[in-house]
Amino acid sequence: MTIFCLLGLSTFIFFFLEIYLTDIETNYNRLIISFLSQPTPTPTDSLAIQFSDDGKKIYPLQYNKLWGHEFFTSKIDQTGNIDIGLAAKQTIAKLLNFLDFPPNLTKNLAIVNVDTTLVGSTVLIKIPWIEGISAFAIIQQLEGGLYGTLANGAVIFLNNLVGYDLAVLTHELGHQISYYLTDQEWIQYYKLRGIPSNTPRRSNDWSLSPEEDFAEVYKATYKSSVVGPNEYSMVEDKWTIKTKYGIFVPTKYTYSSSCDPIEENAISGLLKTWEKNTLSYQIDYYMPPSDIMSKLEDQISADPKVQNCRKKSNELNPFGGPAFVSQANPETQQFIKNVIVRLNSM
Ligand SMILES: [Zn+2]
Repeated sequence: MTIFCLLGLSTFIFFFLEIYLTDIETNYNRLIISFLSQPTPTPTDSLAIQFSDDGKKIYPLQYNKLWGHEFFTSKIDQTGNIDIGLAAKQTIAKLLNFLDFPPNLTKNLAIVNVDTTLVGSTVLIKIPWIEGISAFAIIQQLEGGLYGTLANGAVIFLNNLVGYDLAVLTHELGHQISYYLTDQEWIQYYKLRGIPSNTPRRSNDWSLSPEEDFAEVYKATYKSSVVGPNEYSMVEDKWTIKTKYGIFVPTKYTYSSSCDPIEENAISGLLKTWEKNTLSYQIDYYMPPSDIMSKLEDQISADPKVQNCRKKSNELNPFGGPAFVSQANPETQQFIKNVIVRLNSM
């Protein structure tokens, strides 16, 4: 979701953050950010909060270098201390390592933790990679994370209640990767995810925005690198793709759904053939063997009617998670890994 706010300062406004919201399905204002060209006072302590001429707080960014990754951090809250602490910085750096994140792409990247109780207040953020420019943020309700680009850099805002959640951070870092995709790579990505070619990269509908889909698929692709292959939440897996492109599959807890009749219809031909070639007592007592079962599942998932039903379904599995989730197939995951290799060699 992109929000533009003029604030009666249009002559001063230099740049607008492009705003993406994560982990929400509804579209309403959470955070309005714009940029203005405003000289800020030279700080005596580079990490101390400054004040603009009209009394607004100016939050500096802190430079960090950990394990070969350079990035900026800051914290907007009531404490007046912008240092997020070593543990949080290590969490970020460790994640960048797990993601094999291109070091060049974090040199002008700021990760800012925001106290969401500051709803309605306005603050300035000093951006070190642009002389005399501050990011101007009106803090509204920020849910999850938010990514915006600024000149040759980017800012990620994180809700302090989310903290440094690895899934949220990975999604936001996915936006930073997608910013560097070539047009050719976007075409390839649309094909891999079954996104109609005329779809704008950003959509007001979060779940149908290709940019958001990329961030979600990026997150899912690196899930096993970050949390290990067997980590699985019974309730709602924060690493599952929440956008509406790609092939939808049932979760392992989805035992039945309103799509069952459509699914049965999709496999009736194959099932009949199996029944014809199988002794009747076997049909009564046994499920089809695993090779037939996997063929049946492929046939179900390939059926457009089944996919249509699953994408529209808002049903939950017995553990409260969604009944169906989008999957990143191996080709799509390989595509993303190839992009990372390319960006690392730049
Ligand atoms: Zn996003």
